[in-house]
Amino acid sequence: MKNSGISWTDHTFNPWMGCSWKSPACDNCYAAALAKRWHGVEWGPGKPRQRTSEAMWKQPQAWNRAIEKSGGPNERVFCISMGDIFDAEVENGWRDEVFALINKTPRLDWLLLSKRPREAVRYYEEKGWPDNAWIGTTVEDQAHAYRAEIIKAIPASVRFLSMEPLLEPVKVNLDGIDWVIVGGESGENHRFLPKAWVLDFQNQCREANVPFFFKQWSSFSSDALGHELDGEVCHAFPTPKNRKAAIDTDVAVAE
Ligand code: SF4
Repeated sequence: MKNSGISWTDHTFNPWMGCSWKSPACDNCYAAALAKRWHGVEWGPGKPRQRTSEAMWKQPQAWNRAIEKSGGPNERVFCISMGDIFDAEVENGWRDEVFALINKTPRLDWLLLSKRPREAVRYYEEKGWPDNAWIGTTVEDQAHAYRAEIIKAIPASVRFLSMEPLLEPVKVNLDGIDWVIVGGESGENHRFLPKAWVLDFQNQCREANVPFFFKQWSSFSSDALGHELDGEVCHAFPTPKNRKAAIDTDVAVAE
C-alpha cells in the first residue's frame, strides 16, 4: 500500500525525527514544525534525534514482500522527510541499519535526499553503496549548486537534484545528473516561485536530456495553484542505471 502524498515517491520512510537547519531551503522546514507539534521533538544542533517505532521500521520489508508477491515494478521510497539521512548527529548505527534495510529490499528504490552531500560521499567511501539506493541533494540557489558536483562522486543508480524550494534562477552542470525535481514552497511563509525560473530549468534539462519533474507552485497549500506547467503535468522519471544495464544485456542476448 503506497503511503506518501509526495508526487515523486510512492512511500516515505522515517527511521528517526530531528535535524538541524543547513541552508536557506531549511528556513521554513515543515518537518521541524510538525515534529514539535505532534511528537515534542526539538530541532537543532545538540538536540537528540528520536528513533521511530519498530512497527515503522518493519514497513519497508512489508512493501518489498507485497511487490514480490504481485510481480509489479519497483516502488520508490523517500528517506527521510522528517530529518536528513546524512545528518552527522544521528546516533551511531542507525544509518547502518537503514542501509541494511536497503540491502534487504531490492524491489524498492530508495531515494536518499540530503543537504549534506559530503557526508554521503564519506559514507560511500567507507561502506560502499547499494544498487537500489539513489542519491539526491538539494540545490535551492546558485550558492548551493556545488552540491550537485559532490554527489557525482557516488556511483549511484540514479543521482538527482531536488530544487525545492527553488529560490532564484540557477545554472547547474547536469552532466552526470539523472533526474531533476523542481518545485515551490508551501505554508504561510512560502516564498514566491516565478514561472520564468522553472521554464529556464526545464530548458536546461531538455538541453542535457535529463528527465524533469515539476512538483508544485509556491502557495499556502501544496495543491492551491495546481501542479501544471503551461497546462502540462511534467512528471518524468529516470531509468535507474543498474536496471538499464540489465535491459541492455537482455536485448543483446536476445539479438
Ligand atoms: S535538512 Fe531537511 S529536515 Fe533538516 S532542517 Fe533542512 S529542511 Fe528540515
